[in-house]
Amino acid sequence: MTGRDPANSETKDFIRQRIEQDQAQQRLIDGVVTRFPPEPNGYLHIGHAKSICLNFGVAEEYGGTTYLRFDDTNPIKESEEFVEAIKGDVAWLGFKWAAVTHASDYFEELYKFAVDLINNGKAFVCSLSGEEIRRGRGTLTEPGVNSPYRDRSVAENLDLFARMRAGEFADGEHVLRAKIDMASPNINMRDPVLYRIRHVSHQRTGDAWCIYPMYDYTHCICDALEGISHSLCTLEFEDHRPLYDWVLENVNVNYHPPQIEFSRLGLEYTVMSKRLLHRLVDEQIVDGWDDPRMPTLAGLRRRGVTAAAIRDFCSRIGVTKQDNRIEMNLLDFCIRKDLEDTAPRGMGVLQPLKVTITNWQQDSLMLTGPWHARDESLGQRELPFSGELWIERDDFSLQPPKKWKRLAPGEMVRLRYAFIIRCDEVISGDDGQVVELRCSYFADSRSGQDTSGLKPNGVIHWLSAAHAVAAEIRDYGRLFQVPDPRADTFMQDINPDSRKVLQGFVEPAIMQHEAQRFQFERQGYFCKDSDNTAVFNKTVSLREGF
Ligand code: ATP
Ligand code: MG
Repeated sequence: MTGRDPANSETKDFIRQRIEQDQAQQRLIDGVVTRFPPEPNGYLHIGHAKSICLNFGVAEEYGGTTYLRFDDTNPIKESEEFVEAIKGDVAWLGFKWAAVTHASDYFEELYKFAVDLINNGKAFVCSLSGEEIRRGRGTLTEPGVNSPYRDRSVAENLDLFARMRAGEFADGEHVLRAKIDMASPNINMRDPVLYRIRHVSHQRTGDAWCIYPMYDYTHCICDALEGISHSLCTLEFEDHRPLYDWVLENVNVNYHPPQIEFSRLGLEYTVMSKRLLHRLVDEQIVDGWDDPRMPTLAGLRRRGVTAAAIRDFCSRIGVTKQDNRIEMNLLDFCIRKDLEDTAPRGMGVLQPLKVTITNWQQDSLMLTGPWHARDESLGQRELPFSGELWIERDDFSLQPPKKWKRLAPGEMVRLRYAFIIRCDEVISGDDGQVVELRCSYFADSRSGQDTSGLKPNGVIHWLSAAHAVAAEIRDYGRLFQVPDPRADTFMQDINPDSRKVLQGFVEPAIMQHEAQRFQFERQGYFCKDSDNTAVFNKTVSLREGF
């Protein structure tokens, strides 16, 4: 599905190589088992797609299994809306999970393992404040200091931890910490917090719990309980791996998955963190999570990007350990490549200029054109022609430059799939703006049966004014003005002109067609908006650099 051929070893990334080694050495108990573990605190973005394509992709290629696991340990920020959106996005990308699981499915086990840690002298209840814990942790160059509560007796720890669970304490009064090493060069190993008190209802467990386990403690145990053969995560967790391993070595699980890190996807001219995307939504910089300017899967989908294009993109960027920002051009390339073959063609006039055919005697004439010039199977469309037309304002020039291939006073162009016309007269309004062109057409120049011998300048698109359907066309630019917006300053880098709204027209046949995505000839790819059928979102231009 990802377009990768597992038999072709030259294209294999380090994760696939590792999987094959593990297979060859028969190290896998139940074959390849992966998981995609989102926290349901926002919508998925194209960075998540990289992780989805990797986790589901390797399982598919090596005959394995993938779980969709919600990492729902922080009820303050999580919601059912996000859970449903995430499921929808993964399915839309074309992947099937073996089961949906949740970190919260394992809350009882996680609690029991924590009690075991206390019994084994590996965890203690710490009553310092959050701020005191932070201060005592030390820095990269200085060791931390032991908590004064570090040597509490097992009995006291068990009692306090049980009472934490029972709801006897307020948020922040106590935490459970691992007892590892306050002098460790790795700050993550300096007695990290395993549980905190949060008197907050959880979207699945309701009020059953008021203590919630931390990510680093939870994730590895869930991986072990689910028999994950390769726990794939992004590079920022590399420094957490010793803690991942410590937890699994110190709780009674009979299986210890390997954590393997790969680089996060970054994309030029956008941000890729749910925290920052939340701010764009909350501060109404965009219209919502599915605003077509967003790098979310919902936004890309609404803009008209196909799942196939995103999978192709993820396959092309590959999987490495080098962090970098990928050029937007690569994503655009993948989008075009997919739509090139699949999108029906039609005509849309984005900035209309009126053309009157002065020698047109009939009412209207039905012409036809192919939906796709290279794919006859898409069939033909009907193209009504009449004496009043719309053409693109840009396709006319009063003072054309040399080699002008479009319409100008006294010049001829072909109207695609129709006739050659000549501009005889230009009518301007009081402000000097051209408002109408009066043209004559050549009856013997009809496309496919042209006997006129005329040599027009070029070919332009057009619509019959009486038949064209009015449509709003939303043309999107980059959301940020700089290629590398930074988390601390990104709000200042927002492009104020990231959306242009045009009142144009499209062919009636486009409105009747069941397809969502079209190429407007000479213009680009456009998609019917999911909320409003009279609106088209521009997906991508026809060529790079527009
Ligand atoms: P964010 O900062 O956007 O909230 P996150 O890593 O906290 O990202 P999670 O919901 O925890 O988001 O992520 C689920 C999975 O997706 C994780 O395994 C994470 O490593 C992966 N992931 C998130 N962002 C990216 C990215 N930009 N590139 C590749 N993988 C990513
Ligand atoms: Mg996260």
